[in-house]
Amino acid sequence: MADNYDVIVIGSGPGGYIAAIRAAQLGLKTAVVEREHLAGICSNWGCIPTKALLRSAEVLHLAEHAKNYGLKLEGSISPDLKAIVDRSRGIAQRMNGGVGFLMKKNKVDVIWGEAKLTKPGQIVVSKSSKKPMEPQAPLPKNTLGEGTYSAKHIIVATGARPRALPGIEPDGKLIWTYFEAMVPPEMPKSLLVMGSGAIGIEFASFYRTMGVEVTVVEVMPAVMPVEDAEISAFAKKQFEKQGMKIHLEAKVTKVEKGANSVTAHVEMKDGKIEKITADRMISAVGVQGNIENIGLEALGVKTDRGCIVIDGYGKTNVPGIYAIGDVAGPPMLAHKAEHEAVICVEKIAGLPNVHPMDKLKIPGCTYCNPQVASVGLTEAKAKEAGHDIRVGRFPFVANGKAIALGEDQGMVKTIFDKKTGQLLGAHLVGAEVTELIQGFVVAMNLETTEEELMHTIFPHPTISETMKESVLDAYGRALNA
Ligand SMILES: Cc1cc2nc3c(=O)[nH]c(=O)nc-3n(C[C@H](O)[C@H](O)[C@H](O)COP(=O)(O)OP(=O)(O)OC[C@H]3O[C@@H](n4cnc5c(N)ncnc54)[C@H](O)[C@@H]3O)c2cc1C
Repeated sequence: MADNYDVIVIGSGPGGYIAAIRAAQLGLKTAVVEREHLAGICSNWGCIPTKALLRSAEVLHLAEHAKNYGLKLEGSISPDLKAIVDRSRGIAQRMNGGVGFLMKKNKVDVIWGEAKLTKPGQIVVSKSSKKPMEPQAPLPKNTLGEGTYSAKHIIVATGARPRALPGIEPDGKLIWTYFEAMVPPEMPKSLLVMGSGAIGIEFASFYRTMGVEVTVVEVMPAVMPVEDAEISAFAKKQFEKQGMKIHLEAKVTKVEKGANSVTAHVEMKDGKIEKITADRMISAVGVQGNIENIGLEALGVKTDRGCIVIDGYGKTNVPGIYAIGDVAGPPMLAHKAEHEAVICVEKIAGLPNVHPMDKLKIPGCTYCNPQVASVGLTEAKAKEAGHDIRVGRFPFVANGKAIALGEDQGMVKTIFDKKTGQLLGAHLVGAEVTELIQGFVVAMNLETTEEELMHTIFPHPTISETMKESVLDAYGRALNA
């Protein structure tokens, strides 16, 4: 049996590699096992390469609207798809190289291969069933290989994969998952996106800006259904202005494949079936945890709806086995995985005052145009929870910086408990709100009330001033509207 470790982490995504670094920082002998790509889905096929694509879309949009800023662009501007995709893949490679560097720097052993739990405290690493992703930065020297490894604590951070609807399974050619949507060999003329969660709507936004005819089909009554209804409605209007077609309370029931197109049968809100033909379709109906073939059943590790069941510190029902990140359930977000990683390892190391995960304080960001960001309760959820609330709103059209930037379409909505003044939720749509939201996340973490927010000085001119104005508006004191 190879080396004894204090901690072995299975999977090197944002959950896994952060757990490994924190464990090493705390003096624990640590290894991380990876079968396909250091840095996981987030850096290789998720958060980062999508943002690279979306940045190309943003630059294209700005260039197309250069006239609005008093600029003459000679000649035409058009996307070079291969260069856009190459840039995105190059950034993914840089990210996984970065995690290799961090493993080496923190003296975390990398074990390359597919891990399976054989008993508490032991894993077997065999040849990976996946081809290593390309391009990929060279693995750290001294990367270990197949064998049996033992550790006092084993953290499962195996992530998730695309969910498929029966009968509408992605084939990689006509029906894409996010993997194929990230590296299109050519630009489709038309695209049908099934599902308007963060992944679906980000791709819809990217392709629409690239000039593709985009139709979105969403089964729920709103786009980005987890967001506050008012914010979703605001974003939907903007998407439609950009030429996106959106069908809500509609369901793809069947797909017919042609030689180079798909025809989806869509059951509309009124029950009628409409046939929508598009060159390609993206199936974006959520993700499911990678819980299979890692030995969970044999060891009796409890799972529920495709995810491992954990407590607030990442512990499973089997002593010595922990789970973090996407495989441990929603929200399936990189920063949730990272935070769970730190909590889990600090608890293993016996640190005092480790706080369990509070899911209400996990922000959510969608990088479409306009961006959407939120934290805490929506208006509907706050009412459902029995709060008597005050709601503040402030539009970007009344903010000098937003106007100067040519980005005056957006709004901030804040929700307070009427009795205590506690900030219950914040919901934003518009330019750069994915950067702004952190102000409200810190506020919520410090259990801020309206008074403290009103006493906070926001710099001028910034779009962040809309945050303060929204708070003031909740109390009838907005100054600029
Ligand atoms: C298109 C897209 C866009 C996204 N955008 C965002 C965003 O903007 N913000 C955000 O917060 N989140 C985003 N996400 C979600 C984010 O990528 C995930 O929440 C995050 O990657 C989860 O991290 P993780 O460590 O749990 O798992 P993963 O990142 O999935 O990593 C798991 C790793 O485990 C490895 N593995 C699995 N099984 C084994 C095994 N048996 N042995 C060895 N290795 C194994 C896998 O190869 C993988 O590298 C996006 C996801 C997608 C698909």
